[in-house]
Amino acid sequence: MTQLLSLIVPLYNEEETVGFFAASVRPVLEAIPDMQWEIICVDDGSRDATLPRLLELAAAEPRIRVVELSRNFGKEAALTAGLEAARGDAVIPIDADLQDPPEQILPMVAAWRGGAEVVLGRRIDRSTDTVLKRGTASLFYRLNRSISNIELPENVGDFRLMDRAVVEALKRLPERQRFMKGLFAWLGFKTVVIDYARTPRAAGKSKFSGFKLWNFALEGFTSFSTTPLKIWTYLGALGAAIALLYAVFIMVRTLMFGNEVPGYASLFIAVTFFGSVQLISIGVLGEYIGRIYMETKQRPIYIVRKFHNF
Ligand code: UDP
Ligand code: MG
Repeated sequence: MTQLLSLIVPLYNEEETVGFFAASVRPVLEAIPDMQWEIICVDDGSRDATLPRLLELAAAEPRIRVVELSRNFGKEAALTAGLEAARGDAVIPIDADLQDPPEQILPMVAAWRGGAEVVLGRRIDRSTDTVLKRGTASLFYRLNRSISNIELPENVGDFRLMDRAVVEALKRLPERQRFMKGLFAWLGFKTVVIDYARTPRAAGKSKFSGFKLWNFALEGFTSFSTTPLKIWTYLGALGAAIALLYAVFIMVRTLMFGNEVPGYASLFIAVTFFGSVQLISIGVLGEYIGRIYMETKQRPIYIVRKFHNF
């Protein structure tokens, strides 16, 4: 029995890249020996001509399947939709903008056939990303390593091959807010790494702006670590200890040298400083409570309007 490979492609406003993508991916898929393939395109509520273009492709090629989401749910949700629709023995999420080079699929499949359950694509060259993006990414990974209880492999995105067993395991993770990189890492399995150079976007613009990336990073921290919550116990204890020492100092000073009225500056600083520290800690609580609130609603991760070619 020949095996089936599923590619999962999340697309949001990619009208300029779908054509390129389909054209460069097909020859690669055809070149894999003894392997059937399907491409699951998840239209993540695009507002441009992405969907009609996809449907054109799907009309000409039954192995191109389209999952049409009812609105934009974000890349993580779109990937989840694709993973749930995929039937392959091996599954590879891949970006539509050709930043994940399709040629890498061949060595990935080879490594999988050699026994790997997960084959990670690692970017050795991120020079196509801006200095700011690279800098903040490296800071994120470092911080994450120090506070989180899972290790995120650095410079690894969603581009990876997963065995069916891994996909089934992933589908059992129930969270609504899905930080895919973290979920992937949490699963474990026998992993092999393949290096590749990240190419520039084929066309169009990146969908991840500064604020979106910031929220993405917060999601990463809060999904896999409670350190930001616990840190306040220790900061609070430290603050209390310092305040106590200072109180003793003032008491002794007053006993020895009498009452000194000035002290406005130190009072003011203490009040504003501790006020802000308390607000920050409440904010951190809010981040977690907000997430608990969203999770308890148990809403579906995405809504499908229609399946095409399924
Ligand atoms: N994407 C998506 N939904 C979104 C944002 C992005 O499905 O809300 C898709 C996008 O179409 C692309 C992939 O996710 O196929 C990666 O997006 P992008 O290239 O903008 O991210 P970057 O490479 O800049 O990190
Ligand atoms: Mg991209």
